[in-house]
Amino acid sequence: MLGKGAILSIPLVDLKAQYHTIKPEIDEAIQRVLVQANFVLGQEVALLEREFASYCGVNDAVAVSSGTEALRLALLACDVGPGDEVVTTPFTFIATAEAIVHTGATPVFADITPDSYNIDPKAIEAAITPRTRAIIPVHLYGFPADMEEICRVARKHHLKVIEDAAQAHGARYKDKRVGSIGDIGCFSFYPGKNLGAYGDAGIVVTNSADVADRIRILRDHGRREKYEHEHIGYNSRMDTIQAAVLRTKLAKLDSWNEKRRTLSRTYRKLLRNVDIQLPQEDDTSVPVYHLFVLRSPLRQSIRRTLAAADISTGIHYPIPLHLQGAFRHLGHQVGAFPNSERAANEVLSLPLFPEMTDSQVYQVATAVKEALASQPTLSLHTRRLLKAR
Ligand SMILES: *Cc1c(COP(=O)(O)O)cnc(C)c1O
Repeated sequence: MLGKGAILSIPLVDLKAQYHTIKPEIDEAIQRVLVQANFVLGQEVALLEREFASYCGVNDAVAVSSGTEALRLALLACDVGPGDEVVTTPFTFIATAEAIVHTGATPVFADITPDSYNIDPKAIEAAITPRTRAIIPVHLYGFPADMEEICRVARKHHLKVIEDAAQAHGARYKDKRVGSIGDIGCFSFYPGKNLGAYGDAGIVVTNSADVADRIRILRDHGRREKYEHEHIGYNSRMDTIQAAVLRTKLAKLDSWNEKRRTLSRTYRKLLRNVDIQLPQEDDTSVPVYHLFVLRSPLRQSIRRTLAAADISTGIHYPIPLHLQGAFRHLGHQVGAFPNSERAANEVLSLPLFPEMTDSQVYQVATAVKEALASQPTLSLHTRRLLKAR
């Protein structure tokens, strides 16, 4: 049934629309792999590694099976294991902390700053103990974390910095691409990311030949030669069809990110005088808007109004990691990381994807304004809440 609503409905991301814009190239790339029939770690994987390393401005890249595996292997390559601690943000997707647990180490959370969604370097420093080995900052929503301060803290305490850049392909921090600033950068190519495969995939980037070598061996059963295994490794390889898709899409990444930035400017203009907090840019970085996230104590009623207009929204993320059942054993209580908890209660992701039209942005912004205008008393309440902060 194709009702009126189905035609006007606006998804959070539209991967079908993207495929239509690149269909001939993608179909040709996949066909190339089918003919070569080298389906795992084939030639396209080696080419992607070279091209993505060069895109990020680093010496080397190692393609793996997911962003989560990228993080896990990066930690293992830094010799992180049982008894060690790794400091990260509680306001992220669970994979960031899950990868730490998989190595046998313990995630130690440090709160985000009150005016960004990224980890606070001062909170990192306060969380460091003699067991701390590494810091994993996340460039959440495509906005670079405060890398200069984070790297300063890391140098002072002799810690590794592993960037979780799963949401920030191409974002710049002071003229460097994210992923190239710390010791190791980890990317996810999950289909909905700014650069997405047609299945699971990920990559590690680094300037360290030693780290790259170790990850290359770990991802493929601990071997260099076919049946000669130096270490116990994993099956964490990228498949060749994903690499061929990603090479085709990497060529478009900058223009897609620019389109995200342009659409975000339009959102910003249309929502200028509305009683919500918009994403904040500063002049040290160029964010790539993996998500366009507004913030309001009224996010549930905004969400309901948008749903009634057939507009999808998301909440990234409703429960900070320290309050997840999976991390109950760490013993954190409500109130432990107040900035993350407040953000979790107020954030709302609006539809944003490179193929989105101005008219769709206008529809969404209009619905947000209607949601707030239809609740004059609550709107007054918001102003009070915001003032009370
Ligand atoms: C998507 C994501 C990951 C995990 O990537 P997968 O490819 O899904 O394993 C890790 N960290 C963050 C911040 C992410 O958004």
